[in-house]
Amino acid sequence: MSPADLSTPTSQADAAASAWLLRVRGLQKSFGSNRVLESVDLTVGRGRVLALIGPSGSGKTTILRCLNGLELPDGGIIEIAAAADTDRGRAGQASGRGTNSAVPVSVDFTTKTTSKQLAGLRDRSAMVFQHYNLFPHKTVLQNVIEGPVVVQRRPVAEVTAEALVLLERVGLTDKQGSFPFELSGGQQQRVGIVRALALRPQLLLFDEPTSALDPELVGDVLRLIKELADEGWSMVIVTHELEFAREVAHEIAFVDGGTIVEHGEPKHLLRHPQQERTRQFLHRLL
Ligand code: ADP
Repeated sequence: MSPADLSTPTSQADAAASAWLLRVRGLQKSFGSNRVLESVDLTVGRGRVLALIGPSGSGKTTILRCLNGLELPDGGIIEIAAAADTDRGRAGQASGRGTNSAVPVSVDFTTKTTSKQLAGLRDRSAMVFQHYNLFPHKTVLQNVIEGPVVVQRRPVAEVTAEALVLLERVGLTDKQGSFPFELSGGQQQRVGIVRALALRPQLLLFDEPTSALDPELVGDVLRLIKELADEGWSMVIVTHELEFAREVAHEIAFVDGGTIVEHGEPKHLLRHPQQERTRQFLHRLL
């Protein structure tokens, strides 16, 4: 199965919507002698959701961190298409710090990369972390506006106005002056999601967004992510929640041993896995 099939449209209407936004070819990453990503190929269409599932230690988080420039890959190519009016988040606007999102990003990690290329890549996506990663000494509002103001150099007044709208949306207006330790895990993760949205990214990356939450708080966060997916945000989500992946993702990719072993539509991959490794993994979970 070709990795390009990840965004295979099912109709002509889908074809327009699912022109690729993210394309990854031959991504490699080692930590010392530990070869964590063998060669990862994947494609995410515009407005599409890709879920990455697989055993612990298989490389899922490392894939996300490479996409966001938090890790420097040893090889491979990451491409993000130019922002289009149909993209959520960026919607064709420049971020304000001089990177021009009207042009595509293409970084080839087999050759030496420049800091400008990496900044361009980082600017296109925003990550939601398993442990929220909020700044503990900053208020909720300060956490949300930090990236857009300091990194993207957008005007404080404009960013603050946007942040307040986003906080209202997730029911946290009255927490804008609170510190992270004063919030529940579910509230902290909603701040984490708002912080990512405030960066106006073309692509949202979720790294096991609910795995640190108490079970009764998981539903709220999953509902919010589902709403964003329904609104047409393009996303890559690492998750152990197979039911959620089935519901929200257009495609699921099974990662094992630093490569994508198999991918397909959720109902096919979960019900009729083609590879023995996928079958064994699903058998343990379902
Ligand atoms: P997953 O998300 O599928 O659980 P990870 O991408 O977190 O897997 O980790 C894959 C492998 O990479 C593991 O063996 C992990 O120990 C190793 N690894 C991840 N990050 C680092 C790092 N910063 N330094 C050294 N090893 C790392």
